[in-house]
Amino acid sequence: MSLRDITARFSCDGCGARFEGYIDPAWRTCEVLPSVFDLAEDAIRGFGPGSVQADMHLCAACTRVADAIGDEEYLPTRDEIVAALARADRPERAP
Ligand SMILES: [Zn+2]
Repeated sequence: MSLRDITARFSCDGCGARFEGYIDPAWRTCEVLPSVFDLAEDAIRGFGPGSVQADMHLCAACTRVADAIGDEEYLPTRDEIVAALARADRPERAP
């Protein structure tokens, strides 16, 4: 049996929603493996369902709010993201 994927589960730092990323098993062919935490964060970066911004793990909905801050190249601070999420019209926080 071949390993298909490894799931990394996160709670969004913006709204508390749970979301997942899938760790690519191709990493196992690397000579120097990143830590399991780095692999988990990589699973939600790029093509993942969310993002890591200002050390916050954000679901797709909160990522859209954070991405709308400033221009395309701007990297918002944690305070700016928290303020934007507080102003955003989003569904209730997850329990
Ligand atoms: Zn969220």
